Amino acid sequence: MTNILVTGGAGYIGSHACKALLAAGYTPVTYDNLGIGWRDAVKFGPFEQGDLTDRERLDQVFAAYQPAAVMHFAALSQVGDSIRSPETYWHNNVAGSLTLLQAAVHAGCLDVVFSSTCATYGDQDNVVLDENCAQHPINAYGASKRAIEDMLRDFEGAYGLRHVIFRYFNVAGADPDGEIGEFHRPETHLIPLMLDAIDGKRDALTIFGTDWDTPDGTCIRDYVHVMDLVDAHLLGLKWLERDKGSRIFNLGTGTGFSVREVIDHAGAVTGREAPVIEGPRRPGDCTRLVSGSTCAEAELGWTPHRSTLRQMIADAWRWHQSGHYER
Ligand code: UDP
Repeated sequence: MTNILVTGGAGYIGSHACKALLAAGYTPVTYDNLGIGWRDAVKFGPFEQGDLTDRERLDQVFAAYQPAAVMHFAALSQVGDSIRSPETYWHNNVAGSLTLLQAAVHAGCLDVVFSSTCATYGDQDNVVLDENCAQHPINAYGASKRAIEDMLRDFEGAYGLRHVIFRYFNVAGADPDGEIGEFHRPETHLIPLMLDAIDGKRDALTIFGTDWDTPDGTCIRDYVHVMDLVDAHLLGLKWLERDKGSRIFNLGTGTGFSVREVIDHAGAVTGREAPVIEGPRRPGDCTRLVSGSTCAEAELGWTPHRSTLRQMIADAWRWHQSGHYER
């Protein structure tokens, strides 16, 4: 079977990608430092513990598995944290990706599928965020991802490294089989925190700002089901296998929901209300991030058919109630 190196395969999105890769006939080889990821989430292929910045370890893993491609998920991804401690984002995300790409080129592995983010666009009110939109990130997380996009472009020019870059909007939901799901420590994301508040694991959900320039005053995001997202990665891999050239795709549905709308949907799905507190804005947040492009649908044949808010919250709720990983 063809090996695919999955950095961050012990994390939320990476573990779902490993499950999909195995189902599609590939062997996903997880490379993860377990800083954020969970050993219990690595269920679908070999595990190699290591850090992105450890060139020697990366060289060993490339030599041992001879992967045909890299899916690069491993990253720090908390907006607020990136503002408080930008150096860790530049070190882990940017310096780590540089080391990874150098090792990949050295090993002759020249196909990369990369997790980027809509946070590279920054706050552009009322602008349709298609792939040609200018990128003006307003936090170190978005800036680090934009830098890696530039790095990939330069490595293509110099070394022929082909890549598909996916700019994710807000990823949500869980494996419908309940084997894996979303779990961060500390948790900072809206849907898992809201589910914690609903079942009493925390006192309340704090809404970060009710004075944004949106119809109900709360921020608007475009939520995508994690299984739809990993479908796109499989299509991206096929795209590279067919030698169709490097490409950037947004992964969003084109529909935005406010924080209050998400909370209302969760009430309908779970039959319980989340206790909420109205708090101040969170530094680094954007008013509205909604994908304005259907390139992935038109060119990759991607259909985000599970990405209704109801389905995402229902799958996340099932996972949430089934228990979490152990280190
Ligand atoms: N949010 C919130 N309370 C929380 C966590 C998040 O109001 O405890 C809001 C946040 O301000 C943003 C949206 O929910 O508008 C989604 O945030 P999340 O951290 O899930 O993803 P991000 O958009 O930062 O990638």
